[in-house]
Amino acid sequence: SSIVKIEAINKSYQSGNSFFQALSNVSLQVEKGEIVVVLGPSGSGKSTMLNAIGAIDEVDSGKICIDQQDITQFNNHQLVNYRREEIGFVFQMYNLIPNLTVYENIELTANICSNPLPIQEVIDAVGLNGMEDRFPRELSGGQQQRVSIARAVVKTPKLLLCDEPTGALDSNTSKEILNLIEKINKEYNTTVLIITHNQAISEMANRVVTLKDGKIESDVVNEHIKSAE
Ligand code: ADP
Ligand code: ADP
Repeated sequence: SSIVKIEAINKSYQSGNSFFQALSNVSLQVEKGEIVVVLGPSGSGKSTMLNAIGAIDEVDSGKICIDQQDITQFNNHQLVNYRREEIGFVFQMYNLIPNLTVYENIELTANICSNPLPIQEVIDAVGLNGMEDRFPRELSGGQQQRVSIARAVVKTPKLLLCDEPTGALDSNTSKEILNLIEKINKEYNTTVLIITHNQAISEMANRVVTLKDGKIESDVVNEHIKSAE
């Protein structure tokens, strides 16, 4: 069965007296181990959908089943647990803690979840061996994003949710980060959803879901990748 099964979610935002429908009847299924790229113009609802899956934000109606559990029915305790244990988030801005080292940034997350990977293993996996004692300001943007990926992956999350992970990076560094996300996907069989504006990124995905005006406009399986496997 699908690791993600979204059924007819709706989400509106209120601004003043008016409501804006950010997601209209969105349904989506994702299988374990897939990399799904979410494309679409600015304002089409990509972040709203990812934040709903990650339980950062609530939806108005519909079901969001993760491993057959509907998270829209979770109580606060279950939601806190779900975010802490099951979801790794990676954002455009790396959101590292500036006065903690690479090692400590990752360790902080490892210490609060119940099934962490060994910290050094994750540091090696993201290619930061030897940089354990550096502070975020001593790292390039790409290296900082590697730390933020390590911090997400150390939890052994069911889902890795990436919102414009290469939005602040040049194209070569972006490719390296995408290769890393692919490597993580293969090594740990982590299911990945990635929001991007970058058309080139979609070439690496098993699947490209395109949103427009809060609806799924297309959902395409990448045959190129499939046949290469
Ligand atoms: P995308 O990620 O595709 O750029 P978003 O999901 O961020 O789109 O936003 C979808 C729409 O919802 C946009 O029109 C945006 O302005 C609106 N929106 C997003 N967050 C809020 C909010 N907290 N309050 C009001 N409107 C919001
Ligand atoms: P884990 O098995 O979780 O990776 P380790 O056995 O490697 O943990 O490390 C145990 C403790 O030693 C950590 O909690 C950390 O405080 C410290 N430590 C280990 N390696 C480093 C390092 N390279 N930099 C800073 N602290 C470290």
